Amino acid sequence: MIAKKGHPRILLVGGGAREHAIGEALCRRQKVNLLVVSHNYNPGLDRLACQFERYKETEVESITKWAKHHGVNLAVIGLEDPLDVGLPDALADIGIPTVGPCRDAARVETSKLFARDLMLKHGIPGQVEYHHFTDVNSLRKFLLSSSRDYALKPVGLTAGKGVKVMGEHFGSVEEAIAYGEKVIHEKIGGTSSLIVEERLIGEEFTLQAFVDGETVLPMPLVQDFKRALEGDIGPNTGGMGSYSEPDGLLPFVTRKESDDALEILRLVVRALRAEGMRYQGILYGQFMVTDRGIKLIEMNARFGDPEAVNVLPLLENDFVDVCRAIVGGTLRHIDLHFARKATVCKYITPPEYGFEPKVGVHIKLDIPKIQSLGVRIFFAKVDQKGDEFLTTSSRSIALVGIGDSVEEAETLVEQATLYVGGNYHIRHDIAKKEMLKRKALGKKIAVASYR
Ligand code: AMP
Repeated sequence: MIAKKGHPRILLVGGGAREHAIGEALCRRQKVNLLVVSHNYNPGLDRLACQFERYKETEVESITKWAKHHGVNLAVIGLEDPLDVGLPDALADIGIPTVGPCRDAARVETSKLFARDLMLKHGIPGQVEYHHFTDVNSLRKFLLSSSRDYALKPVGLTAGKGVKVMGEHFGSVEEAIAYGEKVIHEKIGGTSSLIVEERLIGEEFTLQAFVDGETVLPMPLVQDFKRALEGDIGPNTGGMGSYSEPDGLLPFVTRKESDDALEILRLVVRALRAEGMRYQGILYGQFMVTDRGIKLIEMNARFGDPEAVNVLPLLENDFVDVCRAIVGGTLRHIDLHFARKATVCKYITPPEYGFEPKVGVHIKLDIPKIQSLGVRIFFAKVDQKGDEFLTTSSRSIALVGIGDSVEEAETLVEQATLYVGGNYHIRHDIAKKEMLKRKALGKKIAVASYR
């Protein structure tokens, strides 16, 4: 795309399917000069952008210089790593407002200890029992002295792959202790520090919200599927797919529970403000419906991937206006609307994704046929060779069906897969009727504890 004079110049940082959906939303309702910074190539963003620069997303100095040189007016940060190194702070220093919180406020994601301590200090509901360890002996003593199950979480960022849960990922207490030792010794997540949380049981959902420091505007709820294999088994991945319902709820979440979750996010934003931090960006809450009410599992300081690809195509407002309201502190004036449609996302990934993903495998897409079904294609981390795509070690392509019901959206995605050739991995079970019925009934696959 050639840059046009007079149109806003928007910097987008990141190059996955989430960012492809963000870029598509930014360009949907007005003419925008999109400038993308991503360490990897992205065929979708390459087409939308007037400039595409392959800096690493954490190269703060290069990115700020480049943004200044290109006269950027507004920035949107897609992923967490640049938030962890304070890219929004550096962009603010040169007068570029950014959808993405400052480094201090981004700690709701970048430090699980900060997030839990903030909730504790401000008495925010949805809290869980947690303990912080930096020392192997006290961790061992604690785990051996308790008869309960826990989730072990490195304090820092691990791309969603660092959390391990007793009774799910570990066959014995000793295995859990060994993992805790590994986190401390190898500084998994960047520090020798981990949180041990009570293990919760229940269905999980995501609530994402636009936040301008005061006003918190919710998006439709989404449920994502992290496990690599059908039946929700295998290792945690970046996410294999997701779905959302036309009413913005989920089969196992009531309006009251959704409101409770939103109130938790509002209280977090208020607590940050009380601590002197103005949170401007996307706030993502991962929640669990438990028999003791809604619990907050974790927060992210940006859209989820895949969750962004469910909600952004439904946004009826001009996303550029929403972004301006986020950075301008005027979200209260935005009348937010999402189309009352269901969405289903299924990710095409390299074979053996989640284990030892096969790199360089050819994937062929019949793009016109897929588009004729109305199914959206969001490119993630794939290379392109002629009209074929080549897998990297990360997820490849998100297919998103939009329909009047989840069933309709799911059928559309399955039809679209008939136009995807090559050797790839996909979870066909995501959002299938059988799976949703089970969730609506609240029936969980029994997870036996070994204790
Ligand atoms: P997180 O990175 O904190 O979202 O954790 C990744 C996944 O680990 C979550 O989506 C849950 O499935 C699981 N998990 C995290 N915390 C807990 C917990 N306290 N109890 C049970 N499962 C958890």
